[in-house]
Amino acid sequence: MRLSKRITGLTGGGSGGWDVFLRAREMIAGGAPVTELTIGEHDIRTAPAILDHMHRAALAGNTGYAAIPGTSALRDAIAARVAERTGVTTTRDNVVVTPGGQAALFAAHSATSSPGDTALFIDPYYATYPGTIRGAGAVPSAIAARPEHGFQPLAAHIAAAAPGARSLLINTPNNPTGVVYDPATLNGIAQTCRDHDLWLISDEVYDTQVWEGSHISPRTLPDMAERTLVVGSMSKSHAMTGSRVGWIVGPEEAVAHLINLSTHTTYGVPGFLQDAALFALQQGEDLEQGIAAPFRRRREIALELLRGSNVVRPVPSGGAMYVMLDIRATGLGGEDFANALLDAEHIAVMPGESFGQAAAGHLRVALTVEDARLADALQRLVRFAEALPGTAQVAE
Ligand code: PMP
Repeated sequence: MRLSKRITGLTGGGSGGWDVFLRAREMIAGGAPVTELTIGEHDIRTAPAILDHMHRAALAGNTGYAAIPGTSALRDAIAARVAERTGVTTTRDNVVVTPGGQAALFAAHSATSSPGDTALFIDPYYATYPGTIRGAGAVPSAIAARPEHGFQPLAAHIAAAAPGARSLLINTPNNPTGVVYDPATLNGIAQTCRDHDLWLISDEVYDTQVWEGSHISPRTLPDMAERTLVVGSMSKSHAMTGSRVGWIVGPEEAVAHLINLSTHTTYGVPGFLQDAALFALQQGEDLEQGIAAPFRRRREIALELLRGSNVVRPVPSGGAMYVMLDIRATGLGGEDFANALLDAEHIAVMPGESFGQAAAGHLRVALTVEDARLADALQRLVRFAEALPGTAQVAE
């Protein structure tokens, strides 16, 4: 039977850049000792106290249909957190709870684009972005943020792509680059959105992982609250990736429609997971900082180790659980390098090309193994890069 174009064309063909990751998983299943620096998931699990709360909530009977917009208590807690951190008045009517940030991204694009509308996003990008936009019926259009601009998108490039577009999706702190957009970049983005009447979809799921500079939510910028949908999630901030609790914060009218969308798609998030998320948020910033701390520490370890190399250069960045490495001096593309590294050293990293063309010749390293193992893997990665035949030619 014929399936819809929307579903069969979702990924736009190709593997979506997961080849190295899938090959690493096969090698591990076959017993090979692979160091996996691929996906963005903590090496710790959800805190026992949160699980305990989840368990008790379920036993207390919170296993029936839950409030579709999110429980009032959880929406209030999210609103309070956002208001406190951004200074923008935010109430529960500005919040809809979703099954993770991924569902929020889909809902945000469904809410802003009609079928066939153009939805802009920045390359390099989190791997699901173009498929999510297609799934919502819109046409994805990438704007490159170039290495020579520190992977910060230029307002002029966005403005050039804006005519006819409905929305712009940005992500800071950024996956895959770790770059935190600076105030000039964000002001330029906001100006362009106002000038061209674009919705801004701001993916802020890494907002608790900022090592340098500070995270600015563009919803705080002049006249932006009325045209910004902020995507948030418990996944990265509270090591709750499997619990699937996220949200959208936006204007009341948009949120009312988004709640209606939830009624007709997800029917909300399980009540015991919402209760656990509320409990986790009530633990305050200490818990969040404790979860972020290993990444801050490992990033320092990585930067220190890479300081001496002019073949493997870290992209200057300020956040997230990744470092991006520029390996263009080896003469290899990211994909060839990552495949060769996996075979020779049993180290799995993501090729930059998995995240779009702007990150070609780069690697994304997830800081998700314990410190000594990360240091060992990076030392071997550098030695491997420096011994490549193309590298010798570049050095000559
Ligand atoms: N946005 C970005 C940039 C991500 O890296 C991820 C997950 N890796 C998500 C959204 C989705 O996360 P979740 O659905 O777990 O909230």
